[in-house]
Amino acid sequence: MKITSAEFIMSNSNVAKCPSEPLPEYAFIGRSNVGKSSLINMLMERKGLAKTSGRPGKTQLINHFKINKNWFLVDLPGYGYARVSKKDKKVFQKYITEYFQERNQLVCGFVLVDIRHDPQPVDLEFMEWLGTNQVPFAIIFTKADKLKPAVIEKQANAYLRKLLKGAWEETPPHFITSSTSRIGRDELLNYIQDINTE
Ligand code: GDP
Repeated sequence: MKITSAEFIMSNSNVAKCPSEPLPEYAFIGRSNVGKSSLINMLMERKGLAKTSGRPGKTQLINHFKINKNWFLVDLPGYGYARVSKKDKKVFQKYITEYFQERNQLVCGFVLVDIRHDPQPVDLEFMEWLGTNQVPFAIIFTKADKLKPAVIEKQANAYLRKLLKGAWEETPPHFITSSTSRIGRDELLNYIQDINTE
């Protein structure tokens, strides 16, 4: 897919106020610093489209971008646990769970994980939550340039095997990416295009 236009549409924390235009939507999410803004900018070939960090917590909003005038890219805030006071039960932030439960036009959520790291409990729990709620998602491994080419696949496969040791029957689709060396750009954009036209 060639990117011909990428426009910022709006930011908000209320799913009901997200754009009403019924375009197919793809959402990007992960822990902060995973490389989400860099990846979005690399995919769209726009340097400052998504803001890159140094400022943790700056994107506590649901950000909509309209791409090629026919789909939405959504930059979601970094997820983490929020504590529900009395029972001290851990849940994900409300607007994130509401977004995934209520946004009917969502085609696929992309969960970003740093390829150098072992599966982290919060990532596993979040993917489990998506699975339980029947939200289609794929995994994006980021920062692949930080590993030697020979170990990139191995590391991703080890991650997916650990995922399978959980309750998963099959692993979700996955993509290996690097914003600095542009690895994975075509695969990811083609995947979006393909599921868009299915
Ligand atoms: P976000 O908080 O998930 O939006 O993460 P950012 O995109 O702001 O990136 C966090 C840090 O990781 C920054 O210092 C980036 O320069 C660095 N980074 C992001 N993507 C890559 C990548 O593909 N390769 C390398 N080497 N560094 C990256």
